[in-house]
Amino acid sequence: MRFYRKEPQATAKKTDSSIFLSFANNLTITIFTMEQNEKPLFTSVNDIGEFGLIKRLTRHFSDTQESTVLGIGDDAAILSHPDSEILVSTDMMVEGIHFDLAYTPLKHLGYKAVTTNLSDIYAMNGLPKQITVSIAVSSKFSVEALEELYSGIETACQFYDVDLVGGDTTTSRIGMIISVTAIGAVQKGKAVLRSGAKVDDLICVTGDLGASYLGLQILEREKAVWKENQNMQPKLDNYAYLAERFLKPEASKFLIELFEKAQIVPSAMLDVSDGLSSELMHICAQSDVGAFIYEDNIPINEQTYNVAVNEFKISPTTCALNGGEDYELLFTLPKDQFQKIDGQGNFKVIGNIQNKKEGIKLYTPGGEAFDITAQGWNHFE
Ligand code: ADP
Ligand code: MG
Repeated sequence: MRFYRKEPQATAKKTDSSIFLSFANNLTITIFTMEQNEKPLFTSVNDIGEFGLIKRLTRHFSDTQESTVLGIGDDAAILSHPDSEILVSTDMMVEGIHFDLAYTPLKHLGYKAVTTNLSDIYAMNGLPKQITVSIAVSSKFSVEALEELYSGIETACQFYDVDLVGGDTTTSRIGMIISVTAIGAVQKGKAVLRSGAKVDDLICVTGDLGASYLGLQILEREKAVWKENQNMQPKLDNYAYLAERFLKPEASKFLIELFEKAQIVPSAMLDVSDGLSSELMHICAQSDVGAFIYEDNIPINEQTYNVAVNEFKISPTTCALNGGEDYELLFTLPKDQFQKIDGQGNFKVIGNIQNKKEGIKLYTPGGEAFDITAQGWNHFE
């Protein structure tokens, strides 16, 4: 989980719904339509109580997985994954640290809290089956606002085919904390660790990189403008792809299905949450190898390229290497295995695994080599 700010932001003291009238409400660029209430209802959680709240938040969910024996409603859920190994992964998101409700619609937040966890299960070569969701919320959040959050969670559950089987609900003094645990299954022996990369393996990545980082920069920039003048609504039309990649990331389910279909198992894999250079270093450290990647091959979306170069005057490669929150899958596999999946989805070869003594290097189109370090890598330094 990436930390955006070293210092938590001051949290609004308002206890009414005006906190939700920030520009997030006007964000209509993503696939979710933000249903607008002119005067949002504000039912206090106290009015319906904790049990009432849990009931209301979970009423639209139904279990569809065979492995869910018992879902919400008892002291614990019962799951049955008889022939599999079980994968478990948890992430926690704290308001003011990991998300800013000035520009994050609650529905998107719920969706993202789920997909980023599912991404960790896919990164092990497994399929997520169940999630639990725990929330701590202050009195500034209405029941209606929490229903928005849960509608995003529900959308993710439906899209990725997972059951919500439990969680916990409690109060916080200020702001919101949301923690999701994802439970997945993988056939015995088929889990993919970070430690299996071998010399000469190809290094591949799904989708494109750097967009989410720029999406965050754009949203922060627009927030600063909006704080100066709250009548000015931000124009995000030209940044739709970037904002969407940050606010509503998807997990690369297709790749795991493709591996299964092609009957191959990659040698190492992880999801790109902290930027390509950091993830590459994890693979190299844990597999005891080196790596070369080629700048020309790093997948960059056109909008990422244009906004990085023209507006932020930074290299798109820097965004890909040092950004984060892309939730693409980075994996390695032998060349002969790659041939079995080549051309069957949105992923690309970006380099190859080397002997450890070769180090971890980025080659520019001109053939210059730069060391990739823990601090990341900057074109202009
Ligand atoms: P307990 O007192 O045993 O912790 P709770 O009253 O907290 O039980 O929860 C009752 C049921 O509702 C349990 O199945 C629990 O997993 C589920 N649950 C509680 N909070 C949430 C939540 N925020 N989201 C989903 N399920 C929840
Ligand atoms: Mg509980």
